[in-house]
Amino acid sequence: MSLKYKRVLLKLSGEALMGDHEYGIDPLFINKLAEDIKDVYEIGVQIAIVIGGGNIFRGVKGSSMGMDRATADYMGMLATVMNALALQDVLEKKDLPTRVMSAIEMRQIAEPYIRRKAIRHLEKGRIVIFAAGTGSPFFTTDTTGALRAAEIKADVLLKATKVNGIYDKDPNKYPDAKLISEISYLDVINRNIKVMDHTALTLCMENKLPIVVFNIKESGNLRKIVEGQSVGSIVH
Ligand code: UDP
Repeated sequence: MSLKYKRVLLKLSGEALMGDHEYGIDPLFINKLAEDIKDVYEIGVQIAIVIGGGNIFRGVKGSSMGMDRATADYMGMLATVMNALALQDVLEKKDLPTRVMSAIEMRQIAEPYIRRKAIRHLEKGRIVIFAAGTGSPFFTTDTTGALRAAEIKADVLLKATKVNGIYDKDPNKYPDAKLISEISYLDVINRNIKVMDHTALTLCMENKLPIVVFNIKESGNLRKIVEGQSVGSIVH
């Protein structure tokens, strides 16, 4: 089978793990997600995942309550580690070899992030989950996704969302909002389309890394994308 993308970086927000819950992790949804990942794994795609933490804690929220921003951001990064372990658990239950690599050292539960080692894991057929963001405050896990994708030379950054892709206006507010199937990095930035923060976008632009924004709630989308079908929106 010919694959359009052979090595992908999947960016999952913490909220994606929440499913229909208000907080934390939805076991049903994460299980379904693991099935989708397995489907893509089995056709030979190398999969790296950056996981967010917004379902547990966000630095911006902490600092709005008066916390020191950097401290709050470290808490946010720790939240991503919990999500990473939860995801590893479901993937392993489906017999998928998985490694968690953390940007903040916690050797008892995750390997430290070493770029060459991450690439080696992928070549050996292991799914790699990057936890703890970049390891630095003031960044997001979207930026982490762009950074790690560039580092491991991924073919594409797959940005999972709850909507079908990028729209010309907010589809939750305007029923006549239209899906944009293809758009340039600069258009996303200039039109201030809220798909990723600008740090993440410029990093992708500078490294010519395409971004596919797609609906993760729809099973089968991941597979369609790696096989080259047009799903969601592509930023390039
Ligand atoms: N974070 C950080 N540096 C990073 C990545 C994440 O400080 O490189 C912190 C930040 O506080 C952020 C939180 O971790 O709010 C959780 O990540 P994010 O909000 O990106 O998660 P998502 O929205 O994807 O669930």
